[in-house]
Amino acid sequence: MLKSKKFFKMAFATTMAAMVLAGCGDDKTDENIDVLAQIKEEKKIVYGVKYDTRLFGLKNPSTGDVEGFDIDISKALTEEMFGDDVKPEFQEVTSKTRVGLLNNNKIDAVIATMTINEDRKKEVDFTDVYFDAGQSLLVKKGSKVQGIKDLKKGTKVLAVKGSTSAVNIRENAPETEVLEFENYAEAFTALKSGKGDALTTDDSILYGMAEEDPSFELVGGTFTEEPYGIAVKKGNQELVDELNKALQSLKDSGEYDEIKDKWIKK
Ligand code: GLU
Repeated sequence: MLKSKKFFKMAFATTMAAMVLAGCGDDKTDENIDVLAQIKEEKKIVYGVKYDTRLFGLKNPSTGDVEGFDIDISKALTEEMFGDDVKPEFQEVTSKTRVGLLNNNKIDAVIATMTINEDRKKEVDFTDVYFDAGQSLLVKKGSKVQGIKDLKKGTKVLAVKGSTSAVNIRENAPETEVLEFENYAEAFTALKSGKGDALTTDDSILYGMAEEDPSFELVGGTFTEEPYGIAVKKGNQELVDELNKALQSLKDSGEYDEIKDKWIKK
């Protein structure tokens, strides 16, 4: 009797563990929820933003706040769409984690230096373009690398996992070795400690790094187009429409330009 009780207890525990692993215990995972309805009901919208990307989304260690262009745009869009009824909240994403977090309903929208492209459109829905960037290179001042033509055999370029930059650099400079990092903070630390000849990503992000450490500079101009969009979970056209409407209002009222001028000096 004792034995069978123990057996049932164990079987129950195993089943529960399997359910949790499969996501059944998490009532939000993989559900096709109406994100806009949920935002209104919960009176909050959770944006996935960068925490380590100066000018776009950077956590200020002294206040704990995240600051940047993407953050101010998120706040302005929220106010435009919902007035005071809905509060914006922020959760950290990296280039690698942002699509997964969106599709697991952990965040409602991604505003995180994310390029709109055909591959990504298969996984998420995008708004209209809200910022135009282009891929470039950051090097130590005086470097012999002055453009992608100098990324020959024997050179090393640093990039971030899950970014278009890591894909594009292999196409544009097929002979260079590409080292991939988890996020931009790690990649920039690696560049500073001489682990590569250049760091590659959007010019807009590289300007933030050059501002942080002026012994680095952008070289060679841009060699791709990186139009940023806000991503939402597929099937939420109503939310996309609301975001597009709000974005247009911010542009019409001049608020968009004010936010842009505050963060983007180039
Ligand atoms: N805009 C590029 C991308 O979406 C690079 C910046 C980033 O890694 O977020 O992949």
